[in-house]
Amino acid sequence: MRRTVRLHPSLAFALSLLSFALFVLGDASEPKLISVYSPIANYSLSLARRGSHDYVGLLEILEPLGTVSSRVEAQNWRLRFNSIEGMFPNGAARVRIHGREIDLSAPFLLEGGRGLVPVDSLGTVLPVFLAFPVVFHASGLRLFIREEGTSYTTQLESGTPARLILNFSSPVNPRIATEPGKLRMTFTRDPIIASGPPLVSFNNATISAASFVETNGAAEITITSAVPLLASFGNDGRRITIAPAPSATLPAPSANRNSAAAPQSPPPLSAPPSSPGATTGSPAAAPNRIFVAIDPSHGGAETGATFSPTLVEKDVTLAWARQLRRECEARLLRTMLVRDQDIDLQNDQRAVMVNVARPAIYISLHAASEGKGAHVYTALLSLSTPEQGLFLAWDHAQVQSLASSQAAAAAITAELGKNIPARAVVAALRPLGNIVVPAVALEVAPRNGDLADLADADYQRQVASSVVAALAALRGKLEAAQ
Ligand SMILES: [Zn+2]
Repeated sequence: MRRTVRLHPSLAFALSLLSFALFVLGDASEPKLISVYSPIANYSLSLARRGSHDYVGLLEILEPLGTVSSRVEAQNWRLRFNSIEGMFPNGAARVRIHGREIDLSAPFLLEGGRGLVPVDSLGTVLPVFLAFPVVFHASGLRLFIREEGTSYTTQLESGTPARLILNFSSPVNPRIATEPGKLRMTFTRDPIIASGPPLVSFNNATISAASFVETNGAAEITITSAVPLLASFGNDGRRITIAPAPSATLPAPSANRNSAAAPQSPPPLSAPPSSPGATTGSPAAAPNRIFVAIDPSHGGAETGATFSPTLVEKDVTLAWARQLRRECEARLLRTMLVRDQDIDLQNDQRAVMVNVARPAIYISLHAASEGKGAHVYTALLSLSTPEQGLFLAWDHAQVQSLASSQAAAAAITAELGKNIPARAVVAALRPLGNIVVPAVALEVAPRNGDLADLADADYQRQVASSVVAALAALRGKLEAAQ
């Protein structure tokens, strides 16, 4: 589902973050990745540990960059990239590329027809195939091929409140996570490079430092602060402004309800652009049990991620949804499945269905092959709500439930984290922003990199029962929201 997390590139986006509502757990168990940045494509591949070296598939590295083919002859792997030929004997550290002998840092490995080279030899091997130099940031596992990188500047405006402005030389799309005292932006697809010292300290009591580090195929910029921070995107994704979250904008759920300005229930929605006339109905009579809407993402022609020739995301999410429904019903929670068959459903249609049904919580399900365990997403919303009248913009539908959503995400993350790696993430993941009730998206990856996990009923049951345990713990809050 990675591509669906991208920000809309044509909009100047703003996002709000509740630092204190999010937990970040289980980072150490992420698999090792290398990221490649080139004018043709930016992409990431996972590494394989063999002995004391990290290896990567050479064909996979070259594939997006040109015409590539390989064949196995006896114990030799032959690779052709455009017009350049390489010959790699299995188990040998000396290989031959375009008539030149090249020494690898560890023996070449042929595994099931796949040619693996030690990752720290890419800086030697690739220039011969590509016929131009590459720059490999070995410690951060980031490879720059004819790509200068995106530089950035930081500028602190020490007014009241203080603001930190980051200007990037190209549009960026980081993943943003927060923990107490820190806001971290992780750039995996963006070729961000440091343009100054790795740690910049500001002489400011509110925003004290910005640090840059490259790690595991990504660049991370971390902002240290004394208060919860809010970040907003501008200049078509080239500028990120970070400022303290005004408490009036980010109320706790109870504060929201008691505030004179806040209506008792979310105002009606304007219709989504693609569904003219599809407005929400009036709220249903309050049910006496928690009502959970479960949405298996993707479906029909839109298959989501392909994990194997026989395993696609739309089927995985449906199986997980049914399992989650069983677990909910075993605990006497009321449920609805947004889809219970293999059909096409647009995000706007999903949101309209849910907003009409008014569940206590909406849970969207995704599956992923990368990473381990679970990510629990809440919506990333613009703070600059233009509408002040009766109607909320479609993209801001979530704004009044966001604090409840983040509390639910934190509870689900904590409960899942008892068994598997789990972290809470804020992202522009549709249709979360279009849902009026508390809404989270749960993305599940295998426990230990084994794709069979995604179809494993025991794993599904374990995750589902963690989610239901968290919902049960949140019961009072969710019932109050109904
Ligand atoms: Zn997905």
